[in-house]
Amino acid sequence: MTHDCAIIGGGPAGLNAALVLGRARKNVVVIDEGRPRNGVTRHTHGFLTRDHISPSEFRRIAKEEISSYPSVYFEEDTAVSITGTDGDFQITTSQGKSYRSKKVLFAIGMKDLPLDIKGLADVYGKSAFICPYCDGWELREQPLVLIVKGADALHMAKMISGWTNHLTICTNGPDELTDAQREELNQHNVSIFDSPIFSIESNEGMVQDVVLEDSTKISCNGLFFRPKLVTGSDLPQQIGCEITETGTVIVDHFGKTNVPGIYSAGDAASQLHQAIIAASLGSLAGVGINNELNEEAWNKPQSGKE
Ligand SMILES: Cc1cc2nc3c(=O)[nH]c(=O)nc-3n(C[C@H](O)[C@H](O)[C@H](O)COP(=O)(O)OP(=O)(O)OC[C@H]3O[C@@H](n4cnc5c(N)ncnc54)[C@H](O)[C@@H]3O)c2cc1C
Repeated sequence: MTHDCAIIGGGPAGLNAALVLGRARKNVVVIDEGRPRNGVTRHTHGFLTRDHISPSEFRRIAKEEISSYPSVYFEEDTAVSITGTDGDFQITTSQGKSYRSKKVLFAIGMKDLPLDIKGLADVYGKSAFICPYCDGWELREQPLVLIVKGADALHMAKMISGWTNHLTICTNGPDELTDAQREELNQHNVSIFDSPIFSIESNEGMVQDVVLEDSTKISCNGLFFRPKLVTGSDLPQQIGCEITETGTVIVDHFGKTNVPGIYSAGDAASQLHQAIIAASLGSLAGVGINNELNEEAWNKPQSGKE
């Protein structure tokens, strides 16, 4: 069987695309290995009608809703290779299965490279976060440490100052700030420490101290940092998709990549990493894919129609 679309990845982006395509009566397989980037956290915030929901409950509800549309089904598996061209792609999985589809959507998310600070993995998703729009409210008015350097330090301090005035920056090595940037941070009572971080001390996931190599201890109740990211899988690169400097897939407004028939949506194709944005990009990609499939079917000679 050739599916209308294979969706690789079943996070908010892939699931919203599946909903759009299911409602548009397209045959869709969603292949998902079930390792979302926010798997480390207990709650997802800022998704209207689902504020504070657990990531697993979000997915459960989404799949339940999508199951009303019989042309969509789910496979728990990892897609490992992709070949073919527009109209006939072949995808193989780690369980040795293969799928054919006319279009493919990469909704594979991004994944963190291993965290290289001792103790950071213990607090990630519990009291150490990446985005204040996602988790700033829970840490409002608390003493926070930002692990960041250079111009980004100023940007992040400004952004997070709306949630708390108790900010300390640890640059974990040379601060890479200009004198003017350092002065601006000092004027706003943001202390800056440039000694490398020795460890992060915590209790049951709640950060207590950031310990520097020069033995300074900075007490805090939360951390924000910038993780290093890569796309959730190398499938876009395998099939020839163009990638930005920051590692995301280059797409147009409807998630279309430079490879005909291949789309991407969600974190993997955006610099803004929030669940509701991922879902909306998945929805747009679903519309783009459906329009292309309908157009192709419309233009087929009548006698050749399925
Ligand atoms: C600590 C943390 C906290 C966060 N908190 C919030 C929050 O409070 N609010 C908010 O809006 N956002 C939050 N986010 C961001 C949010 O998690 C992402 O924006 C969102 O999950 C992106 O959705 P997505 O569908 O693009 O990717 P994901 O949710 O990451 O889903 C991608 C899926 O694709 C699968 N996959 C990848 N490659 C393959 C393959 N080859 N084969 C099969 N499956 C594959 C993955 O296993 C995964 O299941 C948080 C992120 C982190 C890291």
